[in-house]
Amino acid sequence: AVIAHKEKTEPAVHAYLSDSHEAALAVATKVDEKIANGETISPLAGIPGAIKDNICIKDQKATCASKMLENFVPPYNATVIEKLVSQDYVSLGKVNMDEFAMGGSTENSALAKTTNPWNADYVPGGSSGGSAAAVSAGSAVWALGSDTGGSIRQPGAYCGVVGLKPTYGNVSRYGLIAFASSLDQIGPVTRDVTDAAIVLNAITGHDHRDSTSIPGERPDYTQSLVSDVKGLKIGMPKEYFGDGINSEVREAIEKAAKTYEALGAQIVEVSLPTSKYALSAYYIIALAEASSNLARYDGVSYGLRVPADNLVEMSTKTRTQGFGPEVQRRILLGTYVLSSGYYDAYYLKALKARRLIKNEFDAAFENVDVLLTPTAPNTAFKFGEKINDPLSMYMEDICTTPVNLAGIPGISIPAGFASNGMPIGMQLLAPAMGEEVLLRAAYTFE
Ligand code: GLN
Repeated sequence: AVIAHKEKTEPAVHAYLSDSHEAALAVATKVDEKIANGETISPLAGIPGAIKDNICIKDQKATCASKMLENFVPPYNATVIEKLVSQDYVSLGKVNMDEFAMGGSTENSALAKTTNPWNADYVPGGSSGGSAAAVSAGSAVWALGSDTGGSIRQPGAYCGVVGLKPTYGNVSRYGLIAFASSLDQIGPVTRDVTDAAIVLNAITGHDHRDSTSIPGERPDYTQSLVSDVKGLKIGMPKEYFGDGINSEVREAIEKAAKTYEALGAQIVEVSLPTSKYALSAYYIIALAEASSNLARYDGVSYGLRVPADNLVEMSTKTRTQGFGPEVQRRILLGTYVLSSGYYDAYYLKALKARRLIKNEFDAAFENVDVLLTPTAPNTAFKFGEKINDPLSMYMEDICTTPVNLAGIPGISIPAGFASNGMPIGMQLLAPAMGEEVLLRAAYTFE
């Protein structure tokens, strides 16, 4: 049924870059047999999902929506895929994204244009735009995305679905093609909070292949699906409701706060003054790490190779033709902030700001259980509106990037609609490994 529905939505939405229907149907048949034999199956078994195209699945292309990796077929599974395979997961295919997860509208994809299922004139958000558009259109029941500075939560908000960025280290990054390794995290994009808990359960856990993976057992996150916020303290950081926030978005979040109050939660104003440095710190740290991570695409080991007379020319031509404009801009900026003479002024300074931002969140969570903010300052924008103005595109990340810098979990859930009919997302934040209270607060509102 989902494949049939997908066939109807895809011509307009174009969330997918490749499909794996045959493999999906084979697993579905196997699951049917298990059910017929009375075997217990996992909650995700046979439920059709979609995987962002920067997550490696053995023998399937992982393009990162880049010409550089257009024909790259990984010889191994990401840890999250290994886990899903053991639970009889079904994927209908790999979904579109901004090239190398760099962007906020999926317009940076070098391979396809994905539209917002609510209105095809609008972007689906990014970089996990394909994941959010597929779930929103119903061409996947759930999806995996990745979030470095908002790439699960912001497209979730723009497409009216749920997007969860887990705590840094909660979910293994092994097999996720790196953008900025100290910020990247894989997470679920789903229709509701219950599904987010189910998918998180399926992918969470310590992994010895990822040195930043958090050791220890994980709880059963579906136990947090409790509709009760009585006595919960919810902080609203005043800096997230300032001038840059669209008034309809602000009103929707304030209305959500009233709902929480009516349900017995206590709303308190908090202040996170260092947040104003987060966007700058993010765009220094993320780009510095990206310039280093993307050095591996040299035309030698794998990916695109443009032939030339000598090695340097080959590498130069390969990188010039293989990377799109945004990726090139980021490699240049990242190289600049790491170069001698500028390292202290930019990179080191950004690292210090990052620590202060984290300390400020830690202090806030001594007084409140969760924080409530908008997910993005605006609702989805139209194609072409920001693509030629990188700074205005980056501004859409002001509410999400502090969260990655601090390593804490965040979830975006639907919070109504703007007058133009586009969905509004609200963001809830919790302390590191506080996914349980996060899910409870989100579930109660929903
Ligand atoms: N929009 C942000 C950026 O362009 C976030 C991207 C992401 O989370 N992968 O860097």
